[in-house]
Amino acid sequence: MSSKIRVRFAPSPTGYLHVGGARTALYDYLYAKRFGGEFILRVEDTDQERSTEESMKMQLQDLKWLGLNWDEGVIIKDSDADPAMLTDSEFSEIGEYGPYRQSQRLEIYKKYADQLLESGRAYYCFLTDEEIDAQREQARRENRPPQVNSPYKNMSIDEAKAKLAAGEKAVVRFKTEGLKKDYIIEDLIRGEVKFPSDMVGDFVLLRSNGMPVYNFCCAIDDALMKMTHVLRAEEHLSNTLRQMMIYEALGFDLPKFGHLSIILGPDKQKLSKRHGATSCNEYREKGYLPEAILNYIAMLGWSHPEGKEILSKQELIDNFSLERVNPASAVFDEVKLKWVNASHLRALDHKTLWSLTEPFLKQEGLELPEDPEWQDRSLEVFKTSMETLKDAVDLYKPISSAHFEISEEAKDALSWESTKAVIEAWKQGVSAQPNEFMSQEDFEALQNQVKDTAGVKGKHLFMPIRVAVIGKPHGAELKMLVPLMAKSELLARADRVLAKI
Ligand code: GLU
Repeated sequence: MSSKIRVRFAPSPTGYLHVGGARTALYDYLYAKRFGGEFILRVEDTDQERSTEESMKMQLQDLKWLGLNWDEGVIIKDSDADPAMLTDSEFSEIGEYGPYRQSQRLEIYKKYADQLLESGRAYYCFLTDEEIDAQREQARRENRPPQVNSPYKNMSIDEAKAKLAAGEKAVVRFKTEGLKKDYIIEDLIRGEVKFPSDMVGDFVLLRSNGMPVYNFCCAIDDALMKMTHVLRAEEHLSNTLRQMMIYEALGFDLPKFGHLSIILGPDKQKLSKRHGATSCNEYREKGYLPEAILNYIAMLGWSHPEGKEILSKQELIDNFSLERVNPASAVFDEVKLKWVNASHLRALDHKTLWSLTEPFLKQEGLELPEDPEWQDRSLEVFKTSMETLKDAVDLYKPISSAHFEISEEAKDALSWESTKAVIEAWKQGVSAQPNEFMSQEDFEALQNQVKDTAGVKGKHLFMPIRVAVIGKPHGAELKMLVPLMAKSELLARADRVLAKI
């Protein structure tokens, strides 16, 4: 076995990349990077009914977005292509152990199935579904585990081949008879796990249509791709026994295994759609930063040795160890994720933060100045109220020229006798400003000036000005907003309000 650490993430392209999958990928990545190893991406797409290229592409894109760059495996040639326009040629591969898509390795699985058939460790089984159901039913009645007992397990291969030639359908089953009693792994996260070999009956390797099953492909690929460590979700722990049997029968070296606990929702049930967003893609759309997601999911079952909570990807790499991965299940807490996101977001330089925020603003059709100096100032004002990039939409909306409207709530203030004079004085004061943008002090001075000119104070002063600026009598503090609004914008708004009086 090569001494270099080789770890893989092996998604099934049957949907989006989920938070749990992303965490598995992250731990795989961190482990490889921490120890100078290689991180490999293999696509497990032998479930023909559920696997789609669109899903594969989305998962690869999400992994890339998260920054979990892999050294080997399937890659997307043109990551900007429209998923609906997918063709095979959009994917490519890097690495010397390919192909890395299981659907392109069928010949390899067939070769190893033949080897097991030849050695007598596997056999063709002609039991029909009805016969298997009947066996299971009987086992249930007799309180035995529902394992298949095939009458074909000792049939000679020639006899079986003759039946196949005559058109009969068969699966290829692994023969468990005569194997050792217990299989033991030293799980890197859970410690010693013992599997009694009678936990499984003769299991299927190839379906009757020739398609191999997950356990068979996975064991062969992990061995041929020279994986040193298999870190994956807890739900695969019970598969490990079958995979170990396959390794043994084919004379392959075993990798080290580590099984990560499942992630729970706040009600301590397995995290699912019912708890809210579970796919990385949804978090991207909700305005989360990839580095914040990595940081947060890293802590779902792992902790920094000094208890540090806000960590960059490099800090995660430098500090990661499996010894600190907790075998107990972690609870996903979106409030905490938001806090982590806000911390990363506020640490960004404004140029970067604006470039990430702008697409969210554009998506909502907000019209805002293009000037970088203005963008910088605006972030100074708003970023402390932003926990996600998307939060910027509500913060910037009141100052977007495309979104100005006079709300119903403004009616009352607009009906006051003094309002017209207040807004006219405001307008005049704005137009007399020497600069394109007012400072906070300019605004406060102008407000005082309006108070004197119109001879009103309190709500009769503030509310009409507020309506003249944002179209409604309540909302964010004007002394924050006004300095971000150009004179021409303020005048145009005041005119529209005056026209209503
Ligand atoms: N393809 C499997 C899954 O998506 C992963 C299996 C493994 O890591 O061994 O759950």
